[in-house]
Amino acid sequence: MLGGQDHALPSSSRIQQVGIMGGTFDPIHLGHLLAAETALDQCGLDQVWFIPTNVPPLKAGEQGTDAETRLRLVRLAIKSQPKFQALPIELERGGVSYSIDTVSALQESYPEYAFHYIIGSDRIHDLPRWHRIEELAALVRFIGVERPDELVDLAKLPVPIRERVTMASMPPIGISSTAIRARLLAGRSIRYLVPDAVYQEVVVEGLYGSRSDY
Ligand code: ATP
Ligand code: MG
Repeated sequence: MLGGQDHALPSSSRIQQVGIMGGTFDPIHLGHLLAAETALDQCGLDQVWFIPTNVPPLKAGEQGTDAETRLRLVRLAIKSQPKFQALPIELERGGVSYSIDTVSALQESYPEYAFHYIIGSDRIHDLPRWHRIEELAALVRFIGVERPDELVDLAKLPVPIRERVTMASMPPIGISSTAIRARLLAGRSIRYLVPDAVYQEVVVEGLYGSRSDY
């Protein structure tokens, strides 16, 4: 083998920069996808892993859609972007999904990767309430994106957390899963708010109380 002290590392040896897109995805919509694409594009990420939450700590008591359906919709939504993948790690672990447990497990399994946690405005403001946030903030940096219904005020965050948040700028997308569920229940269209494959699946399967006549 040739000695190789002074040459550049082959690209396969470069540290992979991985974005974590966590959420309930109930259902996944264009806001989630554009947030992930923005982080990929602006923050030098190599991939983004979509990690559906099993039981979200800060939504305790809310009855959501079953995990299998949410995961299926995530997979349909991301199938045309090879740099996105779905990771059912929190669903497989079961119970309440704490991000610190997920990130610790990922770092153990992929010690050669660097992880970046992507979050929208609402979750940025929630950060001080996250389980073991100091430990989590030491392990990952957060990539923040603004939601038009909740403008980001980083000054609200304690300094040690604020220092770990980098904002990326995405075109404002005023879509939420809550609004999508409400539209479907009211018999309204969600076409173009979600990827077409997700729209088709929701309508064909009658998910979220949707009716198939739109
Ligand atoms: P729900 O209304 O059920 O809470 P949601 O639309 O907020 O759903 P989540 O699954 O709770 O979606 O969010 C997952 C992540 O995506 C969070 O970090 C959230 O802030 C972010 N996010 C969701 N919608 C948008 C959006 N329209 N623009 C930017 N970020 C978003
Ligand atoms: Mg939410």
